Amino acid sequence: MKNFLLVLSGFFFLSFSVLAQNDSRKVSGPDGQLDLQVRLVDGQAFYSVRYKGAVMLEDSPLGLVSSVSDFSSDLQWKGSREDHISKHYQQDRIKHSKVHYEANVLLLSLANAQGQVLEIEFQVSNNDVAFRYHLPAVGETATCIVKQEITGFRFPKGSTTFLSPQSPPMVGWMRTKPSYEEPYVTDEPIGSPSRYGVGYTFPGLFKTPNEGWVLVSETGVDASYCGSRLSEGSPDGLYSIAYPQTGENNGHGSAEPALALPGATPWRTLTVGSSLKPIVETTIYTDVVAPRYEASQEYRFGRSTWSWIMWQDASMNYDDQVRYIDLAAEMGYEYILIDALWDTEIGYDRMATLIAYAQSKNVDVFLWYNSNGHWNDAPQGPRHKLHNPIVRKKEMAWMQSQGVKGIKVDFLGGDKQVTMQLYEAILSDANDYGLMVNFHGCTLPRGWERMYPNYIGSEAVLASENLIFGQHANDQEAYNACLHPFIRNAVGSMEFGPVLLNRRHNRSNDGGTTRRTTDAFQLSTAILFQNAVQFFALAPNNLQEFPAFVIDFMKEVPTTWDETVFIDGYPGRYVVLARRHGEQWYIAGANATGKALTLDLELPMLAGTQLTAYTDTPEGQARMSTLKINRKGKLSLAMEAEGGFVLVR
Ligand code: CA
Repeated sequence: MKNFLLVLSGFFFLSFSVLAQNDSRKVSGPDGQLDLQVRLVDGQAFYSVRYKGAVMLEDSPLGLVSSVSDFSSDLQWKGSREDHISKHYQQDRIKHSKVHYEANVLLLSLANAQGQVLEIEFQVSNNDVAFRYHLPAVGETATCIVKQEITGFRFPKGSTTFLSPQSPPMVGWMRTKPSYEEPYVTDEPIGSPSRYGVGYTFPGLFKTPNEGWVLVSETGVDASYCGSRLSEGSPDGLYSIAYPQTGENNGHGSAEPALALPGATPWRTLTVGSSLKPIVETTIYTDVVAPRYEASQEYRFGRSTWSWIMWQDASMNYDDQVRYIDLAAEMGYEYILIDALWDTEIGYDRMATLIAYAQSKNVDVFLWYNSNGHWNDAPQGPRHKLHNPIVRKKEMAWMQSQGVKGIKVDFLGGDKQVTMQLYEAILSDANDYGLMVNFHGCTLPRGWERMYPNYIGSEAVLASENLIFGQHANDQEAYNACLHPFIRNAVGSMEFGPVLLNRRHNRSNDGGTTRRTTDAFQLSTAILFQNAVQFFALAPNNLQEFPAFVIDFMKEVPTTWDETVFIDGYPGRYVVLARRHGEQWYIAGANATGKALTLDLELPMLAGTQLTAYTDTPEGQARMSTLKINRKGKLSLAMEAEGGFVLVR
């Protein structure tokens, strides 16, 4: 009767617990709505998740296989401990500045047939589950290679998915993929094959048949592990943790992470709710991680101009950069980003003069760099300046001597541990030289706003450059914008490069691709998309072509937020968010339904107040007006097709 064998906890730090082999362990969030249960079935570990009694995840596998231990089968209970976490922390660069994280903790110990112990740590807050594996040393063995994680997410029958497929490696522009730039497919049945058959990138959003929402991601990934992804879904709705593809990073470096023992895996996270509110507002990606080093100085976030987006490579010359410095100065922006090719088209000597000119106008400088190395063919320079510590520190010392404040690093090589080591090395060295870092052509950030004080944000999205490259992105612009607050931008800062006021996306605003969205829609993306330094896609001609109230709005808009509140929306259809900066509220909306949309909004934070409203004219131009919100905080507001609005108080 093995099932009734009693196993006593052998560790003094574990509370005395006695578990029958067919027993289960349960932990609930502080408000009692979110439940997680762990069971052993025939020696295999499973967890399931319910919210308000409804199944969010069916029995989903746990465990891993390393070079020294197999925790995929023959598992027995070893013991368990419960704990409670309540912490307050301050965090710049995300959706909220003051966070209270409260969670109940379940630490489970499972032993395999060899008596080796795997600990699984679960933290369950009101709407989030985070869990990770702790691996002890095995005798004198102090390292392992993790071969496979059994960890999976099994969604109930009838669930639908909102996922971005993973790309095969070493394809796309100059063999720079994967770079988290594949279009999302929404409202798809679970188990549908992905576009390339190699699974999905984090985060993944799932909708259960009982109107539940689950956002799956991971956080706390640094140099000690690889970035993971979701496997293809099985027909019965199981998606598993998958490691990078062997071909990433030009085939160099192992796809399997190496771990020093004792060690821990990154956190797998689930954000769960019966509405989209917890998904949009979650801070789980910073709740369970800690700063890896101290900031070398106080970093200043803000707004930037950027010639490359509208004027492209041809603008990589001294005179055009002066025009964009002047634009930044006119707008009162803190920064100019000088993009690719400055090393050859302007040259290091004249860059010193150009940077000094910017500083004379009270504008500081971000510089673009190619990340490579041996992992892409991208010809844009500067190249081979950040891939190894000797050249990197020399380059960063030069930047520091010029007063450069930040870098945009492009074209990284995937999710293998060697690439995660490069991300962390660039961030850590940059901090030593007083530089902020924004990644582009890159992976999803995983808790990095909290882990690295000089980290700004990452592209990892089909960003504004695609609006220049092709018409399809413009035709899909509203749809994509109405996805990001629920998925990509919900788990990390997103460098999109928003607010393209040109109607036509070329230098003279008379050719190239055509913007489909309204002016107010463009303004709304300054609020909807969150990145602590926003590289706005304004062009000098906008100053003459737009009414003063549009330009004034762009002069005043902040890039950091104290609070973020979900108001209304559905992924890919429409979205309304409220964000607070200091005492000032910004309410932003965007409409991708394809027709005019009138919403009855509940804005209790604005009850009884007077607002400035930026809305659409039927022709898609921005109009400014004053609105009064009634004492109940209710407001009815219309958006044109592919339109939007911003309310400011
Ligand atoms: Ca890109």
